[in-house]
Amino acid sequence: MSVSTAAADQSVCAPLPVLGADVTVPLVTGGEVAYAALDYAASAPALQRVWDDVAAYAPYYGSVHRGAGYLSQLSTDLFENSRRTVAGFLDCREGDQVVFTRSTTDSLNLLAAALPAGCRVFVFETEHHASLLPWTNAQVTYLDAPRTPDQAVATLERALADRDPYGPALVCVTGASNVTGELWPVRELAAAAHAHGARIVLDAAQLAPHHPVSVRELDVDWVAFSGHKLYAPFGSGVLAGRADWLREAEPYLAGGGASRRVTRRQDGGVDVEWHESAARHEAGSPNVIGAYAIASACRALTEAGFDSLVARERHLIEKVRAGLAEVPEVRVLSLFGDDAPRVGVISFVVDGWNSSHFAAALSAEYGIGVRDGLFCAHPLVRTLLGSDPQTQGECGAPEAAPGEKSLNAIRVSFGAGT
Ligand code: PLP
Repeated sequence: MSVSTAAADQSVCAPLPVLGADVTVPLVTGGEVAYAALDYAASAPALQRVWDDVAAYAPYYGSVHRGAGYLSQLSTDLFENSRRTVAGFLDCREGDQVVFTRSTTDSLNLLAAALPAGCRVFVFETEHHASLLPWTNAQVTYLDAPRTPDQAVATLERALADRDPYGPALVCVTGASNVTGELWPVRELAAAAHAHGARIVLDAAQLAPHHPVSVRELDVDWVAFSGHKLYAPFGSGVLAGRADWLREAEPYLAGGGASRRVTRRQDGGVDVEWHESAARHEAGSPNVIGAYAIASACRALTEAGFDSLVARERHLIEKVRAGLAEVPEVRVLSLFGDDAPRVGVISFVVDGWNSSHFAAALSAEYGIGVRDGLFCAHPLVRTLLGSDPQTQGECGAPEAAPGEKSLNAIRVSFGAGT
């Protein structure tokens, strides 16, 4: 292959004027700023529409739910309208709550903190760590990686049916893999969960930027996603869905905004009456710009129309996969096979290459920004690579000799605006 790490030496460091004179980045040969950010699965660049909306709101920024002044009222309205926009974007049911969080990770940790007593959790080992790990206060059943969508449903059904005792249960599943881009059979998994008296939360971090997500049609109980993957990079996320568990749980964060009334007791302690609305889990001054940016991205995607976005992305996926197929040393990673429907996330290994070096060379030589490593889905990537779970992967893995198994992978991902 013609890629070489030597190109990195020829790169120059130049100041990025918008960031200030003391911030430099290595640029591609010749000193021209030329880069293609193909790392949307990590963080997607904001849509121009989102920047514009945020810039238009910035002069009117004010505190939410806390002030009588014009700016506070306006900000409160925008914040609450953003909630309604997100509920519409997700096609939520009457009575569902939309809680603004910091991210998908935060949303799933919030749900984990709201599980009813004795609730068991069922999760495939293939999940992103944000879906795999938050359930520390529950008994968790980790399900083996399925090799077909049907196998996923059958595996889940069996595990739910066999649970003992047959108490409350939650299934957590991703809509689109951040490693393979493959779509999971969410509707079927939701039906299986409900048939066995369980609830289901959809990790839509990778699905929502690429596909319409309808809570009603998929019949999921909750959805979580991140603003920064949905073209709204302002530190915000969403947990949307059934109100009951959220209303009955202790507040995720305790503090102002979550509490309706706080009184001093005769014995010196305090009594707190918490809100029952989404505010119960949004203590502190909320990230109104983040919420507004998410709503702006939801509007922009809806107006652009997912049909055309999906069609364009399918074209790009086919192009990238066809290009990769021409290189004999490349192996694309897949759980469900070549024909599985997928979003614009493609991971691969290159025979004889350490993936971290390969990714560095792509950046240095061609200005193509990709990600390398195990993508916060260590069990899945190790399963796909067939590598020993005890062997270290991630950056800095030893070079794999030709014919040897790679210890980490390279990921190319794209989306609207690519
Ligand atoms: N779930 C999936 C499928 C992801 O790809 C990611 C991030 O890559 C997350 C959850 C976590 O998202 P965040 O880092 O925004 O919390």
